[in-house]
Amino acid sequence: MTQLDTKLVHGLPIDDNATGAVNPPIYNSSTYAFETVASMPRWDYARSGNPTREFLERQIAQLEHGTRGFAFASGLAAIHAVLSIFAPGDRVVVGSNIYGGTYSLFNEHFRRWGLLGTPVDTQDEKALEYAMRGDDSTPPAKAVYVETLTNPLLHVNDIAAIARIAHRYGAIVIVDNTFVTPYLQQPLDLGADIVIHSATKYLAGHSDVIAGLAVVRDDVLGERVYYAQNRLGGVLAPEGCDAVRRGMQTLALRLERQQENALVIARHLLAHPYVGDVHYPGIHGEPVAAKGLRGCGGVLSFEVAPGLDPADILDHLRIFRLAVSLGAVESLAELPARMTHFELSREERLNVGISDELIRLSIGIEDVRDLVDDLDQAFDFARERARRRTAGDVRVSAAI
Ligand SMILES: *Cc1c(COP(=O)(O)O)cnc(C)c1O
Repeated sequence: MTQLDTKLVHGLPIDDNATGAVNPPIYNSSTYAFETVASMPRWDYARSGNPTREFLERQIAQLEHGTRGFAFASGLAAIHAVLSIFAPGDRVVVGSNIYGGTYSLFNEHFRRWGLLGTPVDTQDEKALEYAMRGDDSTPPAKAVYVETLTNPLLHVNDIAAIARIAHRYGAIVIVDNTFVTPYLQQPLDLGADIVIHSATKYLAGHSDVIAGLAVVRDDVLGERVYYAQNRLGGVLAPEGCDAVRRGMQTLALRLERQQENALVIARHLLAHPYVGDVHYPGIHGEPVAAKGLRGCGGVLSFEVAPGLDPADILDHLRIFRLAVSLGAVESLAELPARMTHFELSREERLNVGISDELIRLSIGIEDVRDLVDDLDQAFDFARERARRRTAGDVRVSAAI
């Protein structure tokens, strides 16, 4: 049995032509010829399937230890297709702190469609159990939907514990594994039934493609997701499939460096006079391995100390790019309250712990010394700005 790093590089070779090419070809063909009217060709029309996409779909199924994989034009297209296996009137329990686009897909699109979403803090087992069960007027839930690490506070969801509760009620478990990837956790091994990725992030890893993947535990779910993929039609084009495939080959190397860098930065921030709380799994000594994680990934967030304006820091970073998204080779920084979580009202944001002073970093593979220096020069700039502002206030009040 080959190890994960080897699987990342090789996938499951298809050897479907005689050229000896070591990479699977990008088949730019929308249609495939029948030999005769009576023949049943393996490929007929590229939305239903094509060899470039199949390579990627088999690759992610193998990495996530599932039976079948599916590639979509975006992470949200994958989520849309997976949630479409339910019927109007079904109920899904949803982690209370999920990706903003998924949140509005549930609350706007699927609410209109009649799929009920019950938000719950999935780290609270009693609350989860209660939400699964329903009551006289609410049917038992058909599924739980969670993200392995919450965004942007990086709380760890215990997938095995959640799956035990969900399965007791006959519900399936859907895990968005974007922040973690199969390199750090394979949710199907912990009891999940469907795994979803925004492959735009770590799997592709170079901020150059929008893509989504899904993997299922068994053939029954496989048929249902395949129907949604083929009929909703949000498929990933062959070029995109190739970009994700190529990105995944270096996932292990990138993620090792990203989390090594992230830990150095998290510790630096923890000791920094201009920083309040730091959010990175395990940094405060909480058990991460016990929840099935082999590492903590490359995303972290922190509160800027009172008096400093987070925008002064973000606007003056030179190596970190000021941008949403995450998981790529280059480091990115952003202000969740203004850039990624603006779909929540301020009150909703504060309720889940996202303050106006919270900065999220996605750490890349640069030399960590440059990243630390970049943060420090931006902190110094913001500190100086704050000092001048206060000095200005003093002059103003003296004038009055
Ligand atoms: C980015 C992201 C998505 C959406 O993926 P797209 O590829 O942008 O459609 C879903 N879930 C998580 C956790 C994400 O970070």
